[in-house]
Amino acid sequence: MTNEELWMAALNEIELEVSRANFVTWFKNTNIAECKEGIITVNVPNTFIKEWLEDKYQKLILKSLRNYSREVRSVSYNIAAPANVHFNANRPPLKKQKPAPLSETQLEFKEFQDNNETGLNPRYTFDSFIVGTFNELAHAASVAVTKNIGTLYNPLFIYGGVGLGKTHLIQAAGNEIKKNNPASKVKYVTSEKFTSEVVDAIQKNEMAALKIKYREYDVLIIDDVQFFSRTVQGQEQLFHTFNALYNNNKQIVLSADRPPRSIGDIEERLRSRFEGGIMTDVSEPEYESRLAILNAKSAAKNHYPAKEILEHIASNIKNNIRELEGALTLVIAKEKLMGHPLNLDQTREILNKNSRPKKLLTATQIIKTVAASYNIEEKSLFEKTRKKEVVRPRQVAMYLLREDFNGSYPYIGQKFGGRDHTTVIHSYEKIIEDLKKDERLVEEIKKIREALYAN
Ligand code: ADP
Ligand code: MG
Repeated sequence: MTNEELWMAALNEIELEVSRANFVTWFKNTNIAECKEGIITVNVPNTFIKEWLEDKYQKLILKSLRNYSREVRSVSYNIAAPANVHFNANRPPLKKQKPAPLSETQLEFKEFQDNNETGLNPRYTFDSFIVGTFNELAHAASVAVTKNIGTLYNPLFIYGGVGLGKTHLIQAAGNEIKKNNPASKVKYVTSEKFTSEVVDAIQKNEMAALKIKYREYDVLIIDDVQFFSRTVQGQEQLFHTFNALYNNNKQIVLSADRPPRSIGDIEERLRSRFEGGIMTDVSEPEYESRLAILNAKSAAKNHYPAKEILEHIASNIKNNIRELEGALTLVIAKEKLMGHPLNLDQTREILNKNSRPKKLLTATQIIKTVAASYNIEEKSLFEKTRKKEVVRPRQVAMYLLREDFNGSYPYIGQKFGGRDHTTVIHSYEKIIEDLKKDERLVEEIKKIREALYAN
């Protein structure tokens, strides 16, 4: 397959998963510049498109390429003069697609664009947000804030795991405020963006201007503040901005993947500011809510897979709404491609093919990862020391060997320098007990598991 053929085949797949308007906007005038050792370089016309493809379409592009060439490992983009690109988006669509009615095309088109002034994406609204017991407090608090801007809950701090709707919720609050008060200045930024603006301003000696800019907002929404952890300058600036806004009754909305007290490396004074308003979490949706979300998303896509298919997805994808949505999108794309509904077996097959297999861990991996995440030497885990810095990591390692590796107590004891199995049982049970009350420990173990199960 030549590069050109490969790209055409991939585009053909991509086209089925995005709207026509988006396809034309983002993929016109693109082609493969080269393919070297599994790395594909795609020519694109400008930086804007490059960033957009990286942000929004990277996974889809990679997946589509890999369907035709297993050797492809990654994709990068290169800005090329239009003379070097051949693909003409005005060609007729390769596969027959029902043309979307004009209003829908325009809606989707608009949906994709973050608003330049506010940074908000109009697709995140309260209307499209499903409320269940898992998120009702966070939802209620967000709605309340839109009706009592700066006066009721300030800051509003929403925390919870990946893909559980934090970004959706805080942006919905922003969009709602903007809708009801068009003149108000609402700003949504990620903590990375905020930090990089601060760093940039310091380098260019434009800190004063940045300060003015941020202090003029009526509503400031900052996403994923756990990433402030290690950036002192960002923290310093945020602290002062925070105080300035707060003292003027401006609304602040924050999100993070964990509660403030579990965010490491964050200055105490900033932490206590975060905790000064209302904190509420989004947890994992229960089965009924998962099914409700799938039904709502099918309706929004105007395509309804069979009931048992939605039930199958809802029973199998439990802790991430983004993945839930992804599975549905996959099923719908396949049904559209085949031109008829899928049955349960076909659904299983598609979902299995696209989920990554649960990894089998080795004892060594667990020990290494635990040592690394507590920043201690591996060998100290085996020593007979009662030092606090070592005791806790050792207990955690034993706990994980039992839970994730299924090691027997005597085996684990032996691994740890010939300790008695009752010592192991004691450590294991201690962690189980502590997990019930120690948020920070819950977080630490979650992070270790993420490292273990990452590719
Ligand atoms: P987080 O910021 O917590 O990682 P997101 O807000 O990005 O999660 O949510 C992931 C995806 O799931 C988004 O596409 C979002 O629209 C969708 N989503 C999350 N929660 C809900 C919900 N309660 N109802 C409908 N869609 C949701
Ligand atoms: Mg988010």
